[in-house]
Amino acid sequence: MYRIARELSFCYGHRLLDYDGKCAHLHGHNARVVLVLESPTLDGLGMVADFTMIRDRVGRWMDDTLDHRMILRRDDPALPGLRALGEPVVELAENPTAENLARLVCERAIAAGLAVVQVDFWETPTCSATYIPTR
Ligand SMILES: [Zn+2]
Repeated sequence: MYRIARELSFCYGHRLLDYDGKCAHLHGHNARVVLVLESPTLDGLGMVADFTMIRDRVGRWMDDTLDHRMILRRDDPALPGLRALGEPVVELAENPTAENLARLVCERAIAAGLAVVQVDFWETPTCSATYIPTR
């Protein structure tokens, strides 16, 4: 079995609803995301997947849809005000935790045809969440 990892990053803002702590307030993170791909065989070039292709398929989407956006739960009362100000927002059905963002990135990567078996989402240099898709 072969395994490769590709690191990507983006900046975002968020807050957690129904939460008692600092993350209940609007704030930002510099996310570091590590996608792990696995394959029992290599392609004709001797690769599991081209690192550049992973960046093109997932990193570009990340830049276009998540980078420098405020990511909030759908019922966050801050959303109407941010929209009225013309701020770019992303709505999630659930709280924008590192766990849910790891799953969001993983589902996107799988939809883009990548053999992703794990996504590590580093919210800070010391805190990460991992999502492993079920097959
Ligand atoms: Zn946070």
